[in-house]
Amino acid sequence: MTIPFLDLAAAAAEERAELDAIWARFLESGRYILGPEVEAFEAAFARYCGAAEGVGTGNGLDALAIALEAAGVGPGDEVLVPAHTFIATWLAVRMVGATPVPAEPEAGGYNAGAEDFAAALTERTRAIVPVHLYGEVAPMAGILQLAEAHGLTVIEDAAQAHGAERDGGRAGSFGRAAAFSFYPAKNLGALGDGGALVTSDAGLAAQARRLRNYGSERKYEHDEAGRNSRLDPLQAMILSMRLARLDAANSARRAIAARYREGLAGIDGLALPEGAGAPVWHLYVVRAAERDRLAAHLEGEGVQTQIHYPRPVYRFPPFAGAGPAAGSPADRLCGEILSLPIGPHQSEAQTEAVIAAVRGFYGG
Ligand SMILES: *Cc1c(COP(=O)(O)O)cnc(C)c1O
Repeated sequence: MTIPFLDLAAAAAEERAELDAIWARFLESGRYILGPEVEAFEAAFARYCGAAEGVGTGNGLDALAIALEAAGVGPGDEVLVPAHTFIATWLAVRMVGATPVPAEPEAGGYNAGAEDFAAALTERTRAIVPVHLYGEVAPMAGILQLAEAHGLTVIEDAAQAHGAERDGGRAGSFGRAAAFSFYPAKNLGALGDGGALVTSDAGLAAQARRLRNYGSERKYEHDEAGRNSRLDPLQAMILSMRLARLDAANSARRAIAARYREGLAGIDGLALPEGAGAPVWHLYVVRAAERDRLAAHLEGEGVQTQIHYPRPVYRFPPFAGAGPAAGSPADRLCGEILSLPIGPHQSEAQTEAVIAAVRGFYGG
């Protein structure tokens, strides 16, 4: 049996009749940029996240950069970011002319927390971008306290955490704004690129709407130097349909994570994710001392795995020199992590086959 890392075609096949109807409605609408379908999705998604307003963008990277810019972050500012994240978190900071400053992952966890961010504070720190990595909300209670004590703006990178909860709130409801991605493999994914920021700050939302659309609120009136990064109405229609199924899809991921937790318990040399709060398991990431050999064994058994991510962001050329000497906590973490298959269309038999293959590596 081959177990794909994530089966995106299965979702599209199941939704085929609805997707055909959406395509027909889209063609007949005559409205191919912004408009009521985008507005309907923005409002529904903001409500889902526990925020007042949503602003659709072309992708998650732009949502984050626009959120930072609309929050007033710019040249001369330092922004605290996790060392261990997708490179987009750092690139968004650079796109607004600010400097990303890394925080190492929490001991034993994947996310950076308040203590880790506090260790990276300087006089120029202006903002924190916590990342809800792998679908687990970062420890926000402490991060918000730290931000409050130092007058820092918090912008959540919630690209992997649609619907995740912790500390009494949902991803997207904690910071001054939060950025989401609808890249197809995300928990809420489009059939192409897409993103959104959500916020309960009306002024920030209004500026973000201008920034994504040539600095314009009325056609051919340009109040500031914006960009072109708009959510497509076709993707918005698909996302509205999929938003109604997001909780069910997240439940299916939770059931797989629970089964992994039972089935992979008690293996020496293999650490399972704790899953603080109510994660949505965008990824199921284990830590193994013999990671590369385990990955090769699983490949031989037909189980696809990936590594998210092979190196801390400061080890990639665009940010070389921004990190500590080799052997950092993030370096060590990146040497041990392995993402197992997980997704709403993974069958019980496939999950059992993954468990058996991992157990096989460790000698039954
Ligand atoms: C996917 C992702 C992004 C960027 O989203 P795109 O839509 O691909 O631009 C940003 N941050 C994190 C943590 C992500 O996983």
